[in-house]
Order: sequence, then C-alpha cells, then structure tokens
Amino acid sequence: MTGTVFVSGGSGYIAGFLIRQLVNAGWTVHSTVRDLAREGAVRQLLAVDDSRLRFFAADLQHDAGWAEAMAGCTHAAHLASPLPRGVPKHPDELIVPARDGALRALRAAKAAGVQRFVMTSSVAAIAYGRGRGEHRFTEADWTDPSFPGLTPYILSKTIAERAARDWVAAEGGDIEFCSINPSLVFGPLWSRDYSSSVTVLHKLLDGSMRALPDIGFGVVDVRDVADLHVRALSAPGMAGERFIASGPFLKLRDIAEVLHARLGAQAHKVPRRGVPDWLLRLMARLNPIARAVVGELGAVRQLDASHARATLGWVPRPVEESIVDAARDLIALGVVKP
Ligand code: NAP
Repeated sequence: MTGTVFVSGGSGYIAGFLIRQLVNAGWTVHSTVRDLAREGAVRQLLAVDDSRLRFFAADLQHDAGWAEAMAGCTHAAHLASPLPRGVPKHPDELIVPARDGALRALRAAKAAGVQRFVMTSSVAAIAYGRGRGEHRFTEADWTDPSFPGLTPYILSKTIAERAARDWVAAEGGDIEFCSINPSLVFGPLWSRDYSSSVTVLHKLLDGSMRALPDIGFGVVDVRDVADLHVRALSAPGMAGERFIASGPFLKLRDIAEVLHARLGAQAHKVPRRGVPDWLLRLMARLNPIARAVVGELGAVRQLDASHARATLGWVPRPVEESIVDAARDLIALGVVKP
C-alpha cells in the first residue's frame, strides 16, 4: 500500500526512521517541523528522494499549518510530543502540548478525510504507578494518572492518549485510530540532535552517571518502532487497536554490562557499581532527576508485545544490537568522548 501520509515532528528520532521507511516503500510524506528554517538540515540528514517529501510548519500549541500539512493525506502518523532532557517546572509544560497537539492533529485529519490515524503513545500510558516488584502489562492496562509521584512525561503521554481515544469515540466519525506504545527507544542515530531516550546511554558512556540505581526499562529498537508504524498504517482493521512495542525489560546494570562486553575500552567510564536505594532516596530530596526515578526503584515491568507480533507480524531485533548501535553512533558523531 502507498499514498500520501502525514508524519508530525519530522525532526524527531523515531520520525526520521519512519519517514525513510515510508519514502523508500513508495509513500509521499507530508511532515511538520516547528520552524521551516530546519527543513534544509533535516532533508540533508534524512537523505531520501526529496520529491516524495514535503515539509510544513506546525506547532502542537497553535492551529496554524495543520490543515495545510494534512491536505491530500489518506493516512496520518502523529509522533510530535515534547520529550525534554530535564524535568519541567510544571507538568502542564508537557501535558498541554501533548494533549492539545494530538487533538489538533486529529481534527485536521478528520477535516482532510484521513482514513487511518496512528498515534505514537508510549508504555508510559500503560505501565507506571505500580511501585516495587514485578508486574506484567498488556494493551489492556493503563497508567493511573492519580498515582502519586508520576513524572510530567508519564502524565503527558497517558492524558494525551486518553484524550485522543475519547475524541475519536465522540467525534472521530469514520477515522480508524490506533496507537503504538513503545518502551525506551535505542538504536542508530540519524542526527546529533538525538532523542532524550538516548541520554541514558550518553550519561553511562561519558561517566556522568557514576553509579547504577536499581531501575530499568523495556527497550526497543528505533528501526523496529518505525517498522511497526508502517505496518499499523497499512494493515486492515486497525480501529481502536493498541500495540505495545517493546523488547525485554533491562535494568541499568544489564545495559552497562552490554556496553562493557561489546565496546571494551570505549566503555571504560561506564559504571559497574550500584547506588544503594537509601542513597538515591536521599539524593531525591535535592536532585529533580533522582526524584523523577526514585518511585521506580525495584520495579520490574514486563511488557507483553505478543499482540503486535501476532496481529502485524512484527519481529523486533535483539536489543543488545540497539544498545550497541546507539552507543557507537554517539561516539562516531562526537557527542560522547569515551
Ligand atoms: P524526539 O526526537 O524528541 O522528537 C520529538 C518531536 O516532537 C520533535 O520533532 C519535536 O520537534 C516535536 N515537538 C516537540 N514539541 C513540539 C511542539 N510544541 N510543536 C511541534 N513539535 C514539537 O522524540 P522521539 O523519541 O522521536 O519521540 C517521538 C514520539 O515517540 C513522541 O510522541 C514520544 O513521546 C514517543 N515515544 C518515544 C520514546 C523514546 O524512548 N524515544 C518511547 C516511547 C514513546 P523539535 O525538533 O522542534 O523539538
């Protein structure tokens, strides 16, 4: 299947891989950036057939540009959402653009007659707020936004996906809506302007994370997340669907282990020792980054991605490859000096 597809946030990490896969498969892509001054640089890095890619200016917080970008599209993938490296002063700095931007994209899609709308949500909307111990999650689960201590990012993804699904149920008409819910995304980098998901590898490799708290994440490869979007855009019968995109759950110590085993001397700054839980709790009193993760101490989230495998034939690669590819690109691009 091919045609014209809208992809929001064309400067983003996952969107770059998605645009490449779509253009190479014969789609024409209408993408957005906040500022068209970035178009030339993004085009150069993407290095796809320029005639199949158009850029439009659109911001999640403003109405301008969404209708023009969506015009002529039969399919839409909405990826743009704020993913800051630090912790914002107020949760609304993330919640408002994530939620209102998704609704702007949906309204524009409906007005343009888009048939299929794929929203990039997150396992943040599924698997948080359960505390210590091992928990298993499927697409039937939702993060409870009233659980104390959730980060603004987790709240933003949960509230935005809920709002999008509620809007589709009430006003979506014939639009077929589904979401992809990835865990932490690693893999090769197409730009020095990498996503904040890769920051954890950056901090391990440059030694700025000096010890390993007892926390972890489901991990997935950026190429596989893009591939799952292509499948969800193309397959029949996607209305209401939700797909976890995740490989295994890895603790930080497992990720550090992979870096040591595969990068040798280039991983010499990667820590090996753990941070005791009591020390992280103490640090959390003063440090907002420590505060953001302290609620995750001792939690293990097993994310069941069998629905994507069974329904869409999705076969993700081993995540060790994704960790190593991201680390090697951080070094090759000069972002990290090991
Ligand atoms: P990314 O590289 O940071 O890309 C985010 C994109 O959103 C960028 O293009 C950014 O534009 C755009 N954006 C942010 N605020 C905006 C605004 N106010 N108006 C318009 N555009 C705005 O992140 P990513 O990793 O590719 O993430 C893409 C999507 O996947 C997001 O929805 C994210 O929540 C979701 N996701 C990511 C991960 C992960 O681990 N990376 C995991 C699960 C879900 P600028 O370049 O102008 O800032």
